[in-house]
Amino acid sequence: MKTVVLPQHRFYTGNLILSNAQYPYRKGRAWIELNSQNLRHNVNQLYNLLPSGCQLMPAVKANAYGHGAVLVSKELNSFGVHCFCVATVSEGVELRRNGIKGDILILGYTCSKQFFLLNKYHLIQTVIDYPYAEILNAYGKKIKVHLKIDTGMHRLGERSEKFDDICNIFKCKNLIIEGLYTHLCASDNTLPQEKAFTMKQATTFFEVISRLKECGYICPKIHLQASCGLLNYPELSGDYARIGIALYGVLSNREDMLNHTIDLRPVLSVKARVASVKDLFKGENAGYGLQYTANRDRKIAVLAIGYADGLPRSLSCGNGKVLINGYEAPIAGRICMDQTLVDISDIPNVMSGDIAVVIGKSGNSEITAYDLAEQTKTITNELLSRLGARLERIMI
Ligand SMILES: *Cc1c(COP(=O)(O)O)cnc(C)c1O
Repeated sequence: MKTVVLPQHRFYTGNLILSNAQYPYRKGRAWIELNSQNLRHNVNQLYNLLPSGCQLMPAVKANAYGHGAVLVSKELNSFGVHCFCVATVSEGVELRRNGIKGDILILGYTCSKQFFLLNKYHLIQTVIDYPYAEILNAYGKKIKVHLKIDTGMHRLGERSEKFDDICNIFKCKNLIIEGLYTHLCASDNTLPQEKAFTMKQATTFFEVISRLKECGYICPKIHLQASCGLLNYPELSGDYARIGIALYGVLSNREDMLNHTIDLRPVLSVKARVASVKDLFKGENAGYGLQYTANRDRKIAVLAIGYADGLPRSLSCGNGKVLINGYEAPIAGRICMDQTLVDISDIPNVMSGDIAVVIGKSGNSEITAYDLAEQTKTITNELLSRLGARLERIMI
């Protein structure tokens, strides 16, 4: 009888990393261009805000907020950045399998069936509460961890009030505690209520640490800031700052950016090829559901990008636009899974093979992640992190 060979597990979250020989051209359909200079600029700007000794721990979860985790982390490695945080164990594995060096902290939950991956790939696991510490300890092998303290967000972390349980985590023989951290959940502004809350979170966190020290426990590295925490409360720096969105050169929304003087530069552009150009005669429709009607003779371009690539479908029917040769082309009708129609009636000489800019600059015009986030009533974090796996990612 034939033996059935089960497929090996593969870890793949959308980073198609092939050699240039295997795959020489990455601008064929729709792609993301990453600006290495801007990434380096942002790293330097953020480092200037950190006290000496505090390290940047870039958040490269969710495929580096859509940018491409392997590409971004490789670049950061080359800049001398050597610690990262991710959300999941498979994200950590993917980085390791692509040669990323340094510490990788998993911020989220890892299932006990996957604990072997922590050792195999030298990943640091977050202890999300005391019961989880016991499960992790029972695995029986030494595991490097950072211990998370819940100081008021009430998401992950052992509650700061449960000091005895926190001490019990330190008694777990198999846990090598390399760090302690908390997460600020109202640090995106400095209004009185949010400020008071943030200060209370910080005080609570530092109190837990001093009590632990009084009990003789060693608390190696501490960290509490993400992007907003660093920008609004720079005095709260510890040994690391876990920086995501700011590193990519944007903040969650335009107002946040306007409230700060820090000079951050967007790292990412999204571009797509014009696949086809055609006439649309007066009275004809285009796309699914007859949602676009030519009120007079029009010209339409078909773009090789759709909602499965992360272009939000809510930008359909003129809610969004792209740039072609520096001109605006409104989205015509409904965005499809793989393609999008745009009205190019007012743009001269558009041809198949031309490039449409979805996010980024074209001529003197620009579409920013803020524009798209506003048009789709969300924050840049969501918009960017949903950029799809089919987009090629290129560092320039
Ligand atoms: C995502 C995340 C960060 C990074 O947040 P930004 O606001 O993008 O800088 C930091 N810490 C934790 C726990 C996170 O989940």
